[in-house]
Amino acid sequence: MKQKEITLNTLLDDNRVSLAGLSAEEIGDEHAFTSIDTPMREDAFVLSEKEKMQRIEQHFRGIMETLGLDLNDDSLKGTPERVAKMYIKEIFTGLDPANKPKIALFENKYKYNQMLVEKDITFYSNCEHHFVPIFGKVHLAYISSGKVIGLSKLNRVVQYFAKRPQVQERFTMQIANELKKVLNTEDVAIIVDAKHLCVSSRGVQDDNSATVTSYYSGAFEQEARRQEFLHYINL
Ligand SMILES: [Zn+2]
Repeated sequence: MKQKEITLNTLLDDNRVSLAGLSAEEIGDEHAFTSIDTPMREDAFVLSEKEKMQRIEQHFRGIMETLGLDLNDDSLKGTPERVAKMYIKEIFTGLDPANKPKIALFENKYKYNQMLVEKDITFYSNCEHHFVPIFGKVHLAYISSGKVIGLSKLNRVVQYFAKRPQVQERFTMQIANELKKVLNTEDVAIIVDAKHLCVSSRGVQDDNSATVTSYYSGAFEQEARRQEFLHYINL
């Protein structure tokens, strides 16, 4: 499988990147992005979920009608409502901080101070430039600073950040930052290996490419630790 590695270094120093001077096409085709935080408006949660679903339903009906589709057709007529429900109740639930997983930590009684690796966490997200799926695997590791996290919570953190319009680099950083915060350690490594349908089904239509992003901090900046992690996940 042909893969391209994307470096995150440009973002580490500078939390916000200006894309001024790039056209909308260039931003979308290069999947350039501006910030580690998902850009949200101040009034993002003024509307209730029900109101949001009603609006999305109307707008999506408008898109389908503009495309010339007959919304009286039995197969199509429920689509705007289904899309609205899917956006709010399923695929974009990670936009709402209220849905952020509550993390309980346990005392590390066994004094296990080696790396813990959780690999092959499957995720489904959506590209914020095209609103089509990004999916793949997340592999992550951390070294306990005295507390340990329930394994299912690692998975939940990944799913929370996946359920937003995303850019793979930001997704990688958001998982890393959250784990560093809740685990109270800098010793975190993340690899995201993903397929972007906006690359494979449109645009350059490259069905074989995958995109790998990585983030290493703390002890994982040492080559030996990094190699140990890569060895466990077999990449
Ligand atoms: Zn895209």
